Amino acid sequence: MTDVEKIRLLKLLYQYRAMGCEYFEEYRPLSDTKSVTHAHTLDELRSDVSRCELCALCKSRKNILFGNGSKEAQVMFIGDSPGVSEDETGTLFAGRSGELLAKMIENVLLIPKESVYITTILKCRPPENRVPTPEEVACCKPYVMQQIEMVKPKIIVTLGSTSFHHLTGEYDTPLEKVRGLVLNFGDAKLIPTFHPSFLLRNPSAKKEVYADMLNVRSMM
Ligand code: SF4
Repeated sequence: MTDVEKIRLLKLLYQYRAMGCEYFEEYRPLSDTKSVTHAHTLDELRSDVSRCELCALCKSRKNILFGNGSKEAQVMFIGDSPGVSEDETGTLFAGRSGELLAKMIENVLLIPKESVYITTILKCRPPENRVPTPEEVACCKPYVMQQIEMVKPKIIVTLGSTSFHHLTGEYDTPLEKVRGLVLNFGDAKLIPTFHPSFLLRNPSAKKEVYADMLNVRSMM
């Protein structure tokens, strides 16, 4: 069963449960697995995500963090999931890690922060900032895949190992092994790098990220 089929099944199960059903004998995969939403634009997708109840994180979230930036961005940055201040404020990459990301974009890529697109794999914050479960990722990942399809970035930069692993499904590949490489991801090039919050704790890793950003700039 594909991820999309699983998500459609989960959505159906939520609907059946709301109608009072408690037991199912058999599941037959749905034939139409094109998408979990019928959104054709980023604004429509944002609207769908704002009402999403596909996984249990909808119960504890304060805000959905959909993503922001240019709809024609050449470069898309993808983090893992919203943190506590992002959930509180509804602003993606708020605080010091956001400031560092903005500096990386403006001082190394030499473009305004607004000209890239920034989003996360998960749109709702996992409680206590825990690592998202595979089920939560399976529910939410189609949204980021649709964002990629709609923005069509030339370059995708995953921030941190969770983002890289969930986006690519390469769970057995340590980030350290692929950091510094340029990978293929559909029609885009993928550059895995460290998360800005990791850099705040480990400033010595900034030189590696600087090199990654130079790599991005050379491909823009
Ligand atoms: S994390 Fe994603 S799938 Fe789960 S409720 Fe939020 S938007 Fe929906």
